[in-house]
Amino acid sequence: MDDSAIESTPVLVVGGGLVGLSTAVFLAWRGVPCVLVEKRQGSSAHPRAIGYTTRTLELFSRIGIELPPHDGSGPRRARVESLAGQWFEEYPWSPGGTKLPEIEYSPHKGTAIPQDRLEPILRDKAIELGADVRLNTELIDVVQTDDGVIATLRHRDGRETRLLAHYLVAADGVHSPMREKLGIGRSGQGLLAVQRSILFRAPLDEYLEHGIVQFEIEQPGLSAFLTTYMDGRWVLMLSDDVDRDDDEQRAVIRQAVGRPDLDVELCTTGRWELAALIADQFRVGRVFLAGDAAHQLPPNRGGYGANTGIEDAHNLAWKLEAVLSGRSTPDLLDTYDAERRPIAWLRHEQIFARADYKARLQTAVADVPIIDDDAMELGQLYRSAAVLDAGQELPRALRPEQWAGQPGTRAPHLKVLIEGTEGSTLDVLQRGWVLLSEDQRWQDAASRACAELGIDLAFVHIGSDVKPTEPLAFQTAYGVTADGTTLVRPDGYIAWRAVTAPTDPAAALTSALGRVSCAAAQTLAQRIQRLEDVEAIRDVTARYATAVNKGWNGKTVDLDVIPSIFTTDARWVSSDMGIATEGLDAILAGLPEHTAVVQFSMHAFLNPVITVDVDTATGTWLMWVASIIGNDPRAVYMSADMAYTRTAEGWRIHDVDIHQGMLLSATGATTQM
Ligand SMILES: Cc1cc2nc3c(=O)[nH]c(=O)nc-3n(C[C@H](O)[C@H](O)[C@H](O)COP(=O)(O)OP(=O)(O)OC[C@H]3O[C@@H](n4cnc5c(N)ncnc54)[C@H](O)[C@@H]3O)c2cc1C
Repeated sequence: MDDSAIESTPVLVVGGGLVGLSTAVFLAWRGVPCVLVEKRQGSSAHPRAIGYTTRTLELFSRIGIELPPHDGSGPRRARVESLAGQWFEEYPWSPGGTKLPEIEYSPHKGTAIPQDRLEPILRDKAIELGADVRLNTELIDVVQTDDGVIATLRHRDGRETRLLAHYLVAADGVHSPMREKLGIGRSGQGLLAVQRSILFRAPLDEYLEHGIVQFEIEQPGLSAFLTTYMDGRWVLMLSDDVDRDDDEQRAVIRQAVGRPDLDVELCTTGRWELAALIADQFRVGRVFLAGDAAHQLPPNRGGYGANTGIEDAHNLAWKLEAVLSGRSTPDLLDTYDAERRPIAWLRHEQIFARADYKARLQTAVADVPIIDDDAMELGQLYRSAAVLDAGQELPRALRPEQWAGQPGTRAPHLKVLIEGTEGSTLDVLQRGWVLLSEDQRWQDAASRACAELGIDLAFVHIGSDVKPTEPLAFQTAYGVTADGTTLVRPDGYIAWRAVTAPTDPAAALTSALGRVSCAAAQTLAQRIQRLEDVEAIRDVTARYATAVNKGWNGKTVDLDVIPSIFTTDARWVSSDMGIATEGLDAILAGLPEHTAVVQFSMHAFLNPVITVDVDTATGTWLMWVASIIGNDPRAVYMSADMAYTRTAEGWRIHDVDIHQGMLLSATGATTQM
């Protein structure tokens, strides 16, 4: 081990496939230094993905990666006997039926480019933007500490070095050694088949004239899948998991094509698992899973493999930047799993909602409605702490015009003029926080929120900075009135909106932005609120102590105030005293009984550690009781764990749990209770 100079980096990305490279590109574009390690010398010789969605193109285009244009239509497929033989039918990926409105959802269109051509483009871009990309470098071990991860790397010459990183993104593929090391399980439909693929070149362009690019070969004795990478290369996939020598490979290709004399140049072969499995956690401590490491999804029309992974990378990059810069607390990073894992599950569900994959299952799955492609690609809903008002009652995906600016969904594309030039609303999004409104007064609110929270927020005035080409188009697409506003996150998702202007726009915006950005700087309003909450919690605890005092100045236990101290479902427990009382009525009934033998008592709750989380709180107290029981004066020191709930009438005690302590008796005996 060469420990002479241990390096460090904010983010270590493991895996230089599509997703690791996308992570490095998105981080570097945001100015976050990162090291990417890839054990191979370059890309896999076997191109896998070819289809990239409109959303992927939106993400790449924003950072200056333009891919070859395409008409945006998804790949068409057909069932055939062979390419040269009978063609039975073209069959769609999603059942047809309802005619969907023709709306331009994006200025970009999905495209087709083989994965082994796209990866070098991403690698070059990552390096150009300053990412430290290291090929022939394998991560062989990781230890997590409170401050970061310590990674052991093995280089091609066998040398081993250590690298410290604040965070690690494991984009290390389907078999993810990192996921295995962390012991993260996976769930889902599991293995469907082991596939053998043969990549070859052959002059077959004549069969592409009809626009069909994927062929299910159905012959007696041969079921296979044949598709093209549109660059002279084709791949034949077989589900029989049989090893074939070169002659056998050529023979089966010729059989699938239906031309015994076909000139075939073999390129490479592959063996891979057609499976559907989602990791049970996308984050453990400082390690995040992304791409196939997080979700293995079978190839389908939606390109859910690569494209889902690229969106993981995009979702994570801005959050890492915000936390590493100190502007957001690490709580923001919890929203990665909260947002991306449900998307992986939705895609898993939609794959098996379609007849072709449903037919592969041993056990039937319940019918679920098929969600159309535009909704799946451009209308998925995130629910997390980084979004406000995206309730559980909302559907998981709808088309953009159906959402009309719902927080938790991608901010819609609108045709606009920016400084007189035609563009899209998307052109001003996907970098930092942006506030959009037709009402110029929100500019002041944005400046004040910015100043108070330390979160950079750009105000974009709809009508001057950005001018929709259709009147009222912004209000319709974003679901706000002329004086409302929409807050968009750095990944282009809507975090919050005010449909109409609230009474105090600056306060409403500061509160919303503070919450969805997990702003590290607390606002003055938040600090005052916390002080008020702590004060109220101390007060309700003191009132409880006073209510149960008795025996001096003629005082008795005051049952009348107990309902204003406890919630109706409160619990009072002391395992040492063998008391467990549940519910306000039981507490009221139990108090006279438990205090009957006490002639005198004084209670005090001291040294509290109070933690408030919006509408709930906990308090750990030292509880001191001086009492006379049966002419025996005593002092007892105990600890009390309390839980509190904010109700419409103020804070109430929800839980009292009294623990062991020390008893000082008048006889001089000291007993540990
Ligand atoms: C036949 C086929 C066709 C497909 N077609 C499509 C499609 O059309 N559209 C689509 O969206 N998806 C498609 N997919 C899925 C797509 O290829 C994957 O989803 C995508 O490659 C996932 O990228 P990734 O970066 O997560 O993983 P990978 O591409 O597997 O990359 C992981 C990388 O991590 C490296 N690595 C692993 N461990 C370490 C380590 N310890 N240290 C350093 N490096 C390490 C590996 O060498 C590898 O390069 C297809 C898949 C297959 C198999």
